[in-house]
Formats: sequence, C-alpha cells, structure tokens
Amino acid sequence: MDCIFCKIANGDIPSTTIYEDSDFRVITDINPVNLGHCLILPKTHAGNIYELNEELTGKAFTLAKKIAAAVQKATGCSGVNILQNNGEAAGQTVFHFHIHIIPRFKDDDMVLSFGSFKTDSESIAAMGKKITEVLHL
Ligand code: 5GP
Ligand code: ZN
Repeated sequence: MDCIFCKIANGDIPSTTIYEDSDFRVITDINPVNLGHCLILPKTHAGNIYELNEELTGKAFTLAKKIAAAVQKATGCSGVNILQNNGEAAGQTVFHFHIHIIPRFKDDDMVLSFGSFKTDSESIAAMGKKITEVLHL
C-alpha cells in the first residue's frame, strides 16, 4: 500500500520529528495553519479512527494532551485546537489516521466555522435519541 504517512511514521521518508515512541511519531505539518501545527501519526496503518484499535486510540488522545501542552508552552499561544478528520466530507485528505494539534492566537487566520445549520429542538432531540439507540445495540 502506498501511504505517505506510513512512510513518514516509520522513518522511510524524513520528517521534522518532534516526538517518537514505539507506537507514534509526531511531526510538524508541512502546510501549517500556524507555526507549531503538529500531527500525531500511529506507526501502524489505520485509515481513520474506526480502523484504529482501542488501545492505540486511547494512547493517541493521551499523547495529544501531552503534545498540546508542549505546543502551548513553546509557542506561547492562547489556545489549541485538537482536530481529527474522518472521511472526505469532514476534510480528511490523507487517509492514515492522524490528530492535528493546532496552536491558536487571537485574531489568527484560521477559520473554524460551525456554520448556521437550520433545525428545530424536536429534530435535535430525535437525532440524540437515535444515537443513544445505536450506542445500545
Ligand atoms: P487532513 O486534512 O487529512 O486532516 O490533514 C492532512 C494534513 O497533512 C494537512 O494539514 C497537510 O498539510 C499535511 N500533510 C500532507 N502531506 C504531508 C507531508 O508529506 N508531510 C507533512 N509533514 N505533512 C503533510
Ligand atoms: Zn498509512
């Protein structure tokens, strides 16, 4: 399989590595939103969060917290977005699971918009109920 993040995570392609252990490599993003934008990559291939096993999923988010704290200290940013995209519709462009750690500054250029979806309280509650039902299956 020709996966660029597999090659980077396993060191076959050089990268600016800021942290590495037996499960993950953390690199700087090649096209950063802000200076200090990092990516956490598991060394084993998983296309998205559903393909990543539970143990690595837990470890990845624990590591995200640690890296976010370091990014905050190093950049002096006033906030951090921890972002993880699954599927093209969600903005995923590289189909190897990764977590973005993005330092944020007041009035920076990044636009993270949640839009203005029109709905009503009954529809919100009904979808919440449906999700609960699926969780219990
Ligand atoms: P996605 O949109 O899939 O959540 O994010 C993919 C991210 O990977 C983007 O922010 C993009 O800039 C970054 N990226 C893509 N190719 C490379 C690469 O070869 N090296 C590094 N360091 N980052 C990459
Ligand atoms: Zn991969």
